[in-house]
Amino acid sequence: MLRKKTNGVARRPQGASILRDAAHKSVDRRTFLKGSGVAAGGLAAITATGGSVTRAEAQTSDNAVQLVKSVCTHCSVGCTVIAEVSNGVWVGQEPGWDSPFNLGSHCAKGAAVREHAHGERRLKYPMKKEGGEWKRISWDEAINEIGDKMLEIRAESGPDSVYWLGSAKHNNEQAYLFRKFAAYWGTNNVDHQARICHSTTVAGVANTWGYGAMTNSYNDIHKSKAIFIIGGNPAEAHPVSLLHVLRAKEQNNAPLIVCDPRFTRTAAHADEYVRFRPGTDVALIWGILWHIFENGWEDKEFIRTRVWGMDQIREEVAKWSPDEVERVTGTPESQLKRVARTLANNRPGTVIWCMGGTQHTNGNNNTRAYCILQLALGNMGTSGGGTNIFRGHDNVQGATDLGVLSHTLPGYYGLSAGAWGHWARVWDEDPDWLKSQFATVTGADGKEKNLMNLTGIPVSRWIDGVLEDPANTDQPNKVRAMVLWGHAPNSQTRMTEMKTAMEQLDTLVVIDPYPTVSAVLHDRTDGVYLLPACTQFETRGSVTASNRSLQWRDKVVEPLFESLPDHVIMAKFANKFGWADRLFRNIEMEDDETPNIEDITREFNRGLWTIGYTGQSPERIKAHMANQHTFDRTTLQAVGGPNDGEYYGMPWPCWGTPEMKHPGTPNLYDMSKPVAEGGLCFRARFGVERDGDNLLADGVSNPGAEIQDGYPEFTMQMLMDLGWDGDLTDEERSAIEAVAGPKTNWKTDLSGGIQRVAIKHGCAPFGNAKARAVVWTFPDPVPLHREPLYTNRRDLVADYPTYEDRKFYRLPTLYASIQKQDFSKDYPIILTSGRLVEYEGGGDETRSNPWLAELQQDMFVEINPRDANNLGVRDGAQVWVEGPEGGKVRVMAMVTERVGEGVAFMPFHFGGHYQGEDLRSKYPKGADPYVLGESTNTAQTYGYDSVTQMQETKATLCKISAA
Ligand code: SF4
Repeated sequence: MLRKKTNGVARRPQGASILRDAAHKSVDRRTFLKGSGVAAGGLAAITATGGSVTRAEAQTSDNAVQLVKSVCTHCSVGCTVIAEVSNGVWVGQEPGWDSPFNLGSHCAKGAAVREHAHGERRLKYPMKKEGGEWKRISWDEAINEIGDKMLEIRAESGPDSVYWLGSAKHNNEQAYLFRKFAAYWGTNNVDHQARICHSTTVAGVANTWGYGAMTNSYNDIHKSKAIFIIGGNPAEAHPVSLLHVLRAKEQNNAPLIVCDPRFTRTAAHADEYVRFRPGTDVALIWGILWHIFENGWEDKEFIRTRVWGMDQIREEVAKWSPDEVERVTGTPESQLKRVARTLANNRPGTVIWCMGGTQHTNGNNNTRAYCILQLALGNMGTSGGGTNIFRGHDNVQGATDLGVLSHTLPGYYGLSAGAWGHWARVWDEDPDWLKSQFATVTGADGKEKNLMNLTGIPVSRWIDGVLEDPANTDQPNKVRAMVLWGHAPNSQTRMTEMKTAMEQLDTLVVIDPYPTVSAVLHDRTDGVYLLPACTQFETRGSVTASNRSLQWRDKVVEPLFESLPDHVIMAKFANKFGWADRLFRNIEMEDDETPNIEDITREFNRGLWTIGYTGQSPERIKAHMANQHTFDRTTLQAVGGPNDGEYYGMPWPCWGTPEMKHPGTPNLYDMSKPVAEGGLCFRARFGVERDGDNLLADGVSNPGAEIQDGYPEFTMQMLMDLGWDGDLTDEERSAIEAVAGPKTNWKTDLSGGIQRVAIKHGCAPFGNAKARAVVWTFPDPVPLHREPLYTNRRDLVADYPTYEDRKFYRLPTLYASIQKQDFSKDYPIILTSGRLVEYEGGGDETRSNPWLAELQQDMFVEINPRDANNLGVRDGAQVWVEGPEGGKVRVMAMVTERVGEGVAFMPFHFGGHYQGEDLRSKYPKGADPYVLGESTNTAQTYGYDSVTQMQETKATLCKISAA
């Protein structure tokens, strides 16, 4: 049993590096494990550094401690970890001092990653459940049994009946390979965590100005004059990012405005805390914009030259008078006017958001509203401004970029015939063979459609792929086998239905360093496999931080126990399925089943022209890691040294080939610099004309551009028309000719010649357009406030109804049919959720880490004192929290004014208890996390974003009663 800390005494004296002990003794792995008492928790002397920041020095003797550079595997800040390795044993760790991201800091999670790798609660060998018991099996047995079953399902029900759920914990190479692997299997039923954390960001932001990512960087916040955070709690979710936020606050006297229904630890740092009702982000932003427009504080010249559709926004905002905003959000006029004035007077300011904004049925409206606020203020494309969207997991940005998604191939190419053609060329694959791997369906028009061109089922809805009648879906048969690869099921809503879905599957396969809640949620007695994957410290590869910079992790230790790296497990399955030779055609195998990581990087370098993942060769990324100290800690630009002028990690787009040496793009859409030096403009992605208006930029372009105005995206034909095609080399010209001749564009030219020549003439390959404030392809072209499906404000439903029910992403999706029912009398309290500093994601890794588990041992619900007193609930008491769909959790009450009256909050990192039952006995022996608890998502309900199928976890209803 763990015990809480009782005092603040550091376990390891400051300044006493463990190297001092370790380096002077011979410590082999066996002796180390014995001496450190792994099972008895004696690792304290080694591990509980608490983020100690003593500099380590390399030793030179045979038993020297080697320093291996890696990157924290928890959040997207990308903090460097210096691992201290002796005789193959990871004996200590320090934060990277030279990293411009973390500057020698770690949060508790980063300071404890050694124990993540060395964790005694890891899965140690493949297992299967047989007759209700976990049984150890070999890798060969596992691959053969699972592979045979999958091939049988494929033959009977088609490839879409196997769902390949990937991971935000893959490195870039593994993420890319995973998406390619699913394509070779013949399905788009492939997705990952990004669907349920920032898919509404990616869709909203990409459709506003071109790319769906953080525009600036954590470091660039140093230059912000104001910081506006909405629906984000970086003090807990991205702790080291606060270094950068607080620097702006202190150096620039930048006001920090935090908008959140809950008074978070981030709000505790705020100059202005704005409490608002969950699910009313659009109304709140329009309430601020109302004052900006009313007072003429918008940046008129910026809007004239670089924004389309602001007039339509103005019309909608005019409806949001201060009274109406207060009626809907609960926030008073005086405060929002002050916020508007603060933002207007302190430019450039940055806007930061996280899952408080994204996880809603109208999440795409929220993200676009935030963008529009920045466009109105003229805060885009400038250092200190931008939308700094903090991604969650360490490589959720990379896994998204590399296409572990059901609606696109790597690099956001989509699923059209042209997209498949592009990737088939990159893979040197026969497009007809690829096509033959997929099933077909008969469309409503009676025509046969190949499922390779239709979006797959998103991870948020995989349970409906199992439970829904196939007659109502756009795929031939149900999902019968589910592979959960590095994914926490308890991060998803509707867990009572998930339990049923897991029980109905033929086969459930979990591939993870830890068993996860997938091992225990269901009551299956057979047909469950647990395959031990390595952590990222047991392999090597690249990882993309939230700011789009790529970093390289070297391997710290060899795979522990019988675990294997993800790409090796993929190779095993590809061998079993008979197409490994095709999959690895251009990738060297280090042995039968170990694809060379650098070759995979080079392969995606050859294909990801859309977002500029083409310039970051493994050699360049490694050089940046080796020379971290040469990069400026604010601009991220190298000052002298071997990477002089380049930006740290070559934030994408890093245009052209590696040989072109583009420096990366530190701040997207920044027109103050030439494109060749990291400047950019808004992307011409939505055509050149709309309603008779020109969508291209009006009279502005990057310095040195030979077209001093807006222009469309580049094609070979355009180069010819401009007379610039003479700059192409013969090789480039013939590569372009081989694709589509004059129709070849900057995204499909495998030589990079079109990009190179466009940039040579000072232009952005993707054109130079206006951002669009109105996305005419979305259900709500102008972002609208819509009441949540489960709302207790019945008075607002008529004015702000949700959508009509409709079908997309293969599945019927409910909106109005839920909202029209009034649950508010029985379920009067709004339920929301979020993160804690000690844990990450579904929490299996961090709750299995003794140093983190010690810090937070109880799942809880925050209840406002007035609600608690009315319910007769006291602080620390056990309560039931029940959702309107019947799921309920038994948790500890934390009575606190952090939440407002009528609002309850639960963290989402817990699992292993289910509706009052402790499931500890269901874990394989020795692999149960130290801390178990109820999952908030057992009580969380139906609700999906109208564009991306993002789940709603931030505004549902519940009732609370004493347990
Ligand atoms: Fe840095 Fe995030 Fe890791 Fe903490 S969890 S050390 S902030 S990367």
